[in-house]
Amino acid sequence: MQDDADMAGEVDARAWEEHERNRVAREAYLAGPPAILTPMDCVDCGTSIPAARQRAVPRTRRCVTCAGALETR
Ligand SMILES: [Zn+2]
Repeated sequence: MQDDADMAGEVDARAWEEHERNRVAREAYLAGPPAILTPMDCVDCGTSIPAARQRAVPRTRRCVTCAGALETR
């Protein structure tokens, strides 16, 4: 059985989650759109390059695996 304190805690947790979602969404909005909006495929293996990598290395044409292989060549 829930008492009032338990129920208040549950509401708080939900409000916090909502708050966190809004905060993350706002930060993403303030950070601006990703440098490259269209998904790009690795020129070597054709794997789609993750958006995070495209943002980290905007000019990359290769996935992490192929870029690493290239460096060790
Ligand atoms: Zn690749």
